[in-house]
Amino acid sequence: MKAIIVGAGLAGCAAAWAFERHGYDCTLIEASEKAGGRMRCTTMGSHTVDVGFHVLHTAYPSLHRWLDVDQLQLKSMDAATDLIAPSTGTIKTIGDPLRAPSTLFPTIFSAGIWNALRMLRWRLKTRKHDLEAAMDASSLPLDTYFDSMRFSKSFQSSFLQPLFAGITLDSERKERSAFASFTFSAMSHGMMTMPKHGIEAVPTQILERLTSTEILYNTKVTSVSKKSVQLEGGTTKKADIVVLATPQHITQALLGDASHVRRKETATYVFECKNAPSQRARLLLNTEYGQGEQKILHVHVPTLLHASEAHLVVATVIGEDARLHDEDEERKHIQRELVNWFGSTANDWKLIGTTYVDYALPSGSTTAVGRERKPLVHDGIYCIGDHTMHPSVHGTLRSVERLLEHLEVPIPMKD
Ligand SMILES: Cc1cc2nc3c(=O)[nH]c(=O)nc-3n(C[C@H](O)[C@H](O)[C@H](O)COP(=O)(O)OP(=O)(O)OC[C@H]3O[C@@H](n4cnc5c(N)ncnc54)[C@H](O)[C@@H]3O)c2cc1C
Repeated sequence: MKAIIVGAGLAGCAAAWAFERHGYDCTLIEASEKAGGRMRCTTMGSHTVDVGFHVLHTAYPSLHRWLDVDQLQLKSMDAATDLIAPSTGTIKTIGDPLRAPSTLFPTIFSAGIWNALRMLRWRLKTRKHDLEAAMDASSLPLDTYFDSMRFSKSFQSSFLQPLFAGITLDSERKERSAFASFTFSAMSHGMMTMPKHGIEAVPTQILERLTSTEILYNTKVTSVSKKSVQLEGGTTKKADIVVLATPQHITQALLGDASHVRRKETATYVFECKNAPSQRARLLLNTEYGQGEQKILHVHVPTLLHASEAHLVVATVIGEDARLHDEDEERKHIQRELVNWFGSTANDWKLIGTTYVDYALPSGSTTAVGRERKPLVHDGIYCIGDHTMHPSVHGTLRSVERLLEHLEVPIPMKD
């Protein structure tokens, strides 16, 4: 059986590994110069830096089916988030007291007793052994869901909305509530971790297991049919099956689907400094996000997890603010905001680079029901990737597993 897989992100690499283990003759075609897709790193000076803030949830069951998790040398972030109000400089904490008991009183103080109890009720509804369970029921748009849970408006605007804007990479949070419950379950029942050598180590681990797959880099597929793909330049490649493992907007274009895909943009500004502005490996979330000229959604310091000679402070922006207009002015603006957050010490931080992702996550209906978002097969062409399930690493790997189940190809053993 000859298979062509288009796209060497996590989904494409995983499918190629399963196929070649099952004896398929496999070609993996990637438009860019390397594999990894949206789970990629870049180099800034002597640092390996993730393209966008990206964590690996150890609670994702699929992770353990596909990856040697120990080999990734994961380090966990705290089970708590710090909240900064830049206008006053106050910092509060909201944690998960069930995992981090020391955060109980700070959480009650920050959230108020009723919001804390509502968080607890949401937490108790999560299912450790079935993180996706909420997707079986009907969903509400996110903000409507927070209202239905009776969280106060100020708690929503100062914590839930910025937090889920960061998770969905969408300042408007146009995502279904079931996805929020899924991520909340993952946060509740596992750790948010970062691999020692960056998030790209995840797809790379699978890529390195490929032995017989032919991999074509810098090769863009321009059209597809059930049994062939056409490459930029006009070459046609034939196969028994064609699998599209491309992101949502590319898949739709290749399938001739003209419906609009919303861009979910994110940019990170990476600064190098001698002393970290915090000693806790936590997300520092802006409770005043969206007010006035404030662009930074959150800040984190990845070097608190994996030691390095200097610290990195990474500021994340999303949406329109993540679009490149006037690079110099935008960089100055972000540094001014950081001075507002951390004081004049931030003036000494050196910007060592920025990253941009235009279509960071797929978009879909805010009321969709079900674990599978899109059909597996379109005109005989197989489609995998996060947009076919839900926008996460687990959704991505589940989409590959659905394809394998359909073709009766086993999930390969990681040995
Ligand atoms: C900034 C950011 C942060 C994230 N954070 C998290 C997180 O914390 N937790 C989580 O669970 N998930 C997170 N995600 C989501 C997760 O990274 C994705 O769900 C996952 O990487 C999707 O993998 P994929 O293989 O489906 O698609 P992709 O990684 O997009 O791979 C598709 C590949 O197809 C290639 N391609 C495109 N067009 C063509 C063409 N015409 N011909 C050939 N090749 C082509 C691309 O170059 C790419 O390599 C994040 C994503 C981003 C961008």
